[in-house]
Amino acid sequence: MNAPAPKISFVSLGCPKALVDSERIITQLRAQGYELTKTHDGADLVIVNTCGFLDSAKAESLGAIGEAMAENGKVIVTGCMGAEPEQIRERFPGVLAITGPQQYESVLAAVNEAAPPSHDPFIDLVPEQGVKLTPRHYAYLKISEGCNNRCTFCIIPKLRGDLVSRPAGDVLREAERLVKAGVKEILVISQDTSAYGVDVKYAASAWKDREVRTRFLDLSRELGELGAWVRLHYVYPYPHVDEVIPLMAEGKILPYLDIPFQHASPSVLKAMRRPGNQEKTLDRIRKWREICPDLAIRSTFIVGFPGETEQDFQYLLDWLAEAKLDRVGCFRFEPVAGAPANEIADPIPQEVKDERWHRFMKAQQAVSARILGSKVGRRVQAIVDAPGPTVSKGRTKWDAPEIDGSVYIASRRPLRAGDIVTVKIERADAYDLHGIAV
Ligand code: SF4
Repeated sequence: MNAPAPKISFVSLGCPKALVDSERIITQLRAQGYELTKTHDGADLVIVNTCGFLDSAKAESLGAIGEAMAENGKVIVTGCMGAEPEQIRERFPGVLAITGPQQYESVLAAVNEAAPPSHDPFIDLVPEQGVKLTPRHYAYLKISEGCNNRCTFCIIPKLRGDLVSRPAGDVLREAERLVKAGVKEILVISQDTSAYGVDVKYAASAWKDREVRTRFLDLSRELGELGAWVRLHYVYPYPHVDEVIPLMAEGKILPYLDIPFQHASPSVLKAMRRPGNQEKTLDRIRKWREICPDLAIRSTFIVGFPGETEQDFQYLLDWLAEAKLDRVGCFRFEPVAGAPANEIADPIPQEVKDERWHRFMKAQQAVSARILGSKVGRRVQAIVDAPGPTVSKGRTKWDAPEIDGSVYIASRRPLRAGDIVTVKIERADAYDLHGIAV
């Protein structure tokens, strides 16, 4: 049985730079499903982000570690004092891990080991392999916790409870700090991004000289003013999603929607109890593309859901052929302990699931290849993820990190991670684009 989300208590000491580091670690912990708590007592572990600039700061840091050891006992130390681990080890040999400043990835690895995150294979918000923090140029921004839906294959509401939206002002301040720290692309995540603010009746909160409502459109508009790429994940096709498409057409936020459709057959969707009226979805997609022809839609699907008939599956394939989604992931249904879906109907035999999965992937590959082929000859913007001596790996606006495809960029001048460059696309293969920096 999956455990509830582990709770982390976080102590942040030191200068504004250290605070930015703390923000980044906290953002990524939230993205992985951890909960933050204000007290050491009852937390699964404590992270102390230390400062070692002056002797007095060192003493304060050691004091904070001592307190965390006494009140909790499971402590990870990071930050400037982490650069001198001997001093800490000498006083507190029981500390779980010590990492230096800006070693975000090591902190997360230590947290994952000491208190593994709870996991739902179908709906995890971050890639299975976890959040890699080495690239500093993109970051996940979690805007709410929990979920008001009750999809039958999902245990998130049981684990994390109903939707709790963060006030828009808080989210925007975090986003602004990320951008100031060098983040060039913000990936907005939550269990149901389009439901943002429903729980607080879209209450307004202060942001700069104005009030901003805790609402999907208002938040998207403000995020679009921060000067970074903004990518929306886990959006359900509620009617008000239409309102953000013009922001995409104007270039304020990326022309990208990650909509986990999970299926298309009305009877399977009903059995899944999925949010969003699917009947008119194809019409809606058509309209969105009229407003923003460059819109990329990515989605995930589940095949072999209990009770899925061959007819349901064929319906899904026909729907896919019409929807022409840019990027698609597909899971074979597996029972998640505690999910009502397991009781709905007899399980579909594994060989049928496998066979449907292969047919699905083959059908989608043909769609993706055609879409990618249509990009050849265009000049598009791309963000560099992994610079190379002659060819760098990056992504266009149509691709999210870790889950979508890449663009391989040949360049005479050296490129750096996070650079946004114009690329002339010269060829496409089944998943990726290849081009030259211009
Ligand atoms: S929308 Fe459905 S699948 Fe997603 S977290 Fe909520 S209940 Fe789970």
